[in-house]
Amino acid sequence: MSGPDMKMITVIGSGLIGRSWAMVFASGGYSVKMYDKQPGQAVSAIAEIRKQMMELEEAGMLRGQLSATQQMSLLSTQDDLQLALQDAFFVQECVFEQLEVKQDIFQVVEPLVGKDVILSSSTSCLVPSKVFSKVQNRSRCIVSHPVNPPYYVKLVELVPHPDTTPLVMDKTYALMTKVGQAPVRLKKEIDGFTLNRVQAAIIAESWRLVQDGIISVQDIDLVMSEGLGMRYAFIGPMETMHLNAPQGLGDYMSRYGEGIQRVLRSFGPVPDLCAEDAKSVVSEMCQLIPNDQQHLAARRHRRDQLLMGLARLKQDQ
Ligand code: NAD
Repeated sequence: MSGPDMKMITVIGSGLIGRSWAMVFASGGYSVKMYDKQPGQAVSAIAEIRKQMMELEEAGMLRGQLSATQQMSLLSTQDDLQLALQDAFFVQECVFEQLEVKQDIFQVVEPLVGKDVILSSSTSCLVPSKVFSKVQNRSRCIVSHPVNPPYYVKLVELVPHPDTTPLVMDKTYALMTKVGQAPVRLKKEIDGFTLNRVQAAIIAESWRLVQDGIISVQDIDLVMSEGLGMRYAFIGPMETMHLNAPQGLGDYMSRYGEGIQRVLRSFGPVPDLCAEDAKSVVSEMCQLIPNDQQHLAARRHRRDQLLMGLARLKQDQ
């Protein structure tokens, strides 16, 4: 996906995710125009990106072949949506996670762009058939769902609208690959897409185990961070099983399949995560890490530093 007419991407919404997309696209050599309906927001996003890019360059973690200064020169802001969309071949929407706001913005964008321009949404939880319901030509619509922070966590779930053409899926996949993300293709839309469905399963069983008095909050987190998570940063559950029996996955299932099914059948119902007795789980967590801004900010900083280290390690794979 390159050429003289395929160099400009428009990012709509310049909050946390819009900023990250702008950095990712610029790292791949694309020009990015950022538009935000809140006055001054896109300009301050650019200032924040500059700061981050300089720090990344200093740390040797800047992505792409261009210097921070070269990447910054690819970024601009535009207060007029029509001008922001001019010359774009790809539009990445990153506005609030509210169905109507997203539906309305795509309705406004559609007549302002050519018919081949791909309309892509960052939505975490809204299915494409809803997000794009006010678009006339939905064959060029797709969800590209990133994971926060996309600069270090490269997965992007590509979720088609029922009308999305295979070509639009292929072009989006190629773009994401070119800018260094790790795209996966969903064959059809489903509530929660795939990452959040798997995450929900992990949350549900972790919650049940804590609430049923089997394990503490601290220890269930260690089960992931010192156990399953060690492998999952590099190989998924399917390959893990494939490697864990002498003859691979089929062999693994004949050895362990029945046991896994027995455990699955013992899972309890969907836990009520907001019930009165759920408060004990919340307070156990808050005893470990108090939920004031100072403690949370310190732990977030630690998380981001660790993710940066992991991203560096994965780069050298
Ligand atoms: P955010 O609140 O940080 O930023 C949203 C931005 O959109 C704001 O700057 C706001 O001014 C702007 N905006 C709102 N309505 C607009 C409109 N009509 N036109 C132009 N700009 C408008 O939100 P965020 O965390 O960046 O999330 C953006 C999208 O990305 C959401 O759909 C969210 O679900 C998705 N997402 C978020 C995460 C995450 O962890 N934050 C992860 C993956 C996907």
